Amino acid sequence: MHSKSFNAFEMAQAQFDRVADLLDLDQGTRDLLRNPLREYHFSIPVHMDDGSFKVFRGFRVQHNDSRGPGKGGIRFHPAETVDTVRALAMWMTWKCAVVEIPLGGSKGGVICDPHHLSAREQEQICRGWVRQVARNVGPYWDVPAPDVMTSAQHMLWMLDEFEIIEGRKSPGFITGKPVGMGGSLGRKEATGYGVVYTLREALKELNLKPENTQASVQGFGNVAQYAIELYQHIGGNVVCVSCWDQTDKTSYSYRKKSGINLQELMGITDRFGGINKARAKELGYEVLPGDAWIEQDVDILIPSAIENQITKDNVNKISKRVRVIAEGANGPTTPDADKVLHERGVFVIPDFLANAGGVTCSYFEQVQSNMNYFWERDDVLSRLDVKMTSAFIGVSELARQRKLYMRDAAYVISVSRVAQACHERGWV
Ligand code: GLU
Repeated sequence: MHSKSFNAFEMAQAQFDRVADLLDLDQGTRDLLRNPLREYHFSIPVHMDDGSFKVFRGFRVQHNDSRGPGKGGIRFHPAETVDTVRALAMWMTWKCAVVEIPLGGSKGGVICDPHHLSAREQEQICRGWVRQVARNVGPYWDVPAPDVMTSAQHMLWMLDEFEIIEGRKSPGFITGKPVGMGGSLGRKEATGYGVVYTLREALKELNLKPENTQASVQGFGNVAQYAIELYQHIGGNVVCVSCWDQTDKTSYSYRKKSGINLQELMGITDRFGGINKARAKELGYEVLPGDAWIEQDVDILIPSAIENQITKDNVNKISKRVRVIAEGANGPTTPDADKVLHERGVFVIPDFLANAGGVTCSYFEQVQSNMNYFWERDDVLSRLDVKMTSAFIGVSELARQRKLYMRDAAYVISVSRVAQACHERGWV
């Protein structure tokens, strides 16, 4: 579904320019916020299991840290580009600002495909990534976390390498660590649950009862699985999910009109969320083309895979019944598709608000680590609910008062907060 010309950073800058105009930002602030403060590009040499030697390309982009240390995940993806990492770092800045946590925006990545790498090879990539940027990251400067195709295990390898370099324990270096190793209960669920906390609030505004709604979800990884779990828990019905098939190198949508069974599908899924097609058929799922998720006759769409998925080429396939789009992924909707959704009056919960639950829980992980006192899961999740709900209400009230599209309202709040921090520090 990727159009060749798509550039995530150009998209992030176009979104920023639109809000800079709305806020009438001065030129200096625009110049500062349109681009990352710093970025690092480096090579990671790895001795492969077959005896060969391979060099992977890694990145860390620090977009803005005026509100606190940079924060953001590290993606492992074969199609990673520095421009995608730049966009994701910028979105992290807005994400931390919209939920009012004292952190800035960063992102990292490695061009690699973990599907084809052994655990030992991935460990070397993690350790090599840290060796290349150890001096430019750290608990008081820039704190990494998991993201697409990286997990708590990757975070632990990275932490271990950082602590060896530093010569001391430093659990605040990274979040998303395994529970029992400085990780927080609820972190795994946090992004997906956060999507549904905001979705629940949106449904209230639209006077829709979750039990009377149906949803279609793109993706079946960490974000999608927990979003489905909580949405079903509050009464919603997911009738279609779409995910990547590693064997066929394409994606498929899996539909069951009576509603998918999450546990059943998770039982036939690989570690990246790829569903076993043959088993799904046996279990009575219809197997449809990958982009069929978008044209389902449902009330809610939850794109929870990657960027550039709702585009001008497929936006008109979205059913007239769709009332809400909750963006679990970062950057799933291109600006031209967004314009169509805005005109159609679809209630879009923008990515950096909808999926801010992950980084909010990462912040809780840091707080718990600092106190060396770890909270119960329910405690973490109820604090997460409070943070996400109040961020949602702040954005939707502004949208209503100023008659703004939800994405614009979220941007107005975030960019104002970040611009103010830059001014107060005397940066611009
Ligand atoms: N990678 C997640 C995101 O895109 C979480 C970042 C974090 O926890 O720092 O929001």
